[in-house]
Amino acid sequence: MARILIVEDEKEMASGLRDNFEFEGYDVEIAGDGEEAVEKTLSYDPHLIVLDIMLPQKSGYDVCRELRSKGIRTPIIMLTARGEEIDKILGLELGADDYITKPFSIRELLSRVKAVLRRAPSANEGRAVFQAGKLTVHFDRLTAHDADGEVMLSHKEFEILRYFSDHPGETISRDRFLDKVWGYEHFPTSRTVDNYIVRLRKAVEEDPLHPRHIITVYGIGYKFIR
Ligand code: CA
Repeated sequence: MARILIVEDEKEMASGLRDNFEFEGYDVEIAGDGEEAVEKTLSYDPHLIVLDIMLPQKSGYDVCRELRSKGIRTPIIMLTARGEEIDKILGLELGADDYITKPFSIRELLSRVKAVLRRAPSANEGRAVFQAGKLTVHFDRLTAHDADGEVMLSHKEFEILRYFSDHPGETISRDRFLDKVWGYEHFPTSRTVDNYIVRLRKAVEEDPLHPRHIITVYGIGYKFIR
């Protein structure tokens, strides 16, 4: 099920859009301002963002620019005001994928959304950006950072995080990690997985001794919770 983030400060408009998208089988979150839009893009990790330009404080342009500068390439459809040609051009220059002019028909918006999602890489191809607790991971660049700056991770640590990001909420056994991440190349023991998890928790968790994201499933392995 594709996840859609709707960024719109007008509550009626936002909930009307939510109803229509949910009716079409999408999962929907709403952000009421630009700040929340950036936060929810990281935590909810939508497949597509419907972004109104006219927002209080941080405008839709600012949100678009900020997301693209963070390396987040989630497709964006901008909602612009009627006749404001400059809006559209600026929006596209800032990295929006499409725009639609208010007032629009919901059918028109839904068909644009379908078209943009068709062009976008599927969810199965993995996501470029993964929010793991306090850590933001860019898989395309193999970089990670937290509020204090860049965090150096090893190749295997990136691969474990990628496996978690592809299987959120799923219990992953130590053997499965060894198979998928190590491929038994160096015949590591299951203790190896535990050692890596200890290191990753230091990067991901606010309190590594009381993890909230990388959870131990006793006797089996680990699971990742957003
Ligand atoms: Ca608005």
